[in-house]
Amino acid sequence: MDRADRGTDSEAKSAGMKKNSVVLPGDELAVSEEYLPGKYAYDDSGRIRALLAGRVVEDMVNREISVKPVTAARTPAVGDYVTGQVEVVQSNSAGVRIYYLNGKPTEKGFSGMLLLRREPPGRGARTRTYVKLGDIVRARVASTLNAIIQLSIDDPRSGVIFALCGNCGRPLLGAGNRAKCEECGNVEERKFANDFGQSPIQP
Ligand SMILES: [Zn+2]
Repeated sequence: MDRADRGTDSEAKSAGMKKNSVVLPGDELAVSEEYLPGKYAYDDSGRIRALLAGRVVEDMVNREISVKPVTAARTPAVGDYVTGQVEVVQSNSAGVRIYYLNGKPTEKGFSGMLLLRREPPGRGARTRTYVKLGDIVRARVASTLNAIIQLSIDDPRSGVIFALCGNCGRPLLGAGNRAKCEECGNVEERKFANDFGQSPIQP
């Protein structure tokens, strides 16, 4: 059934638009015998139609039918926690593909930049490994200056929450700053979140 065929009078009377349905501009919401047009709805010769894309809201008390505009998921803000996968690692930063914002899935395709601390060069200085390619990390948004989502893993909640052994590819288990692979004995270093090793992982 194409859009032109949808919503004959009899169909609208019997079915109407279900509460919370997603509608597009011009979609029929109800017939005017049943409802008054509310916000973002209009009466088109006896048919109540949507003015814009959104979700259908029915006010049963006032017999009004409205459309609540679909709002874009907000962008990550300072203090939010995001969870994603490390997709690029450079000498002092890592790129993280963000899949969760404050524990809720986001499909907006945000990327964050994780700044990695470097120990000052000097005697005995060595490079610490904070994250590796493919790790799943939870991080706090530290800045959004210039539309760059800058991430931090300094607090205990933040860090790697899931990682695979670089040697054999099995999931790592661990505590503190090191994780040991139970399969091959390989020991790896990361900055782990305090709930690392929990299964299933909590974004
Ligand atoms: Zn292993």
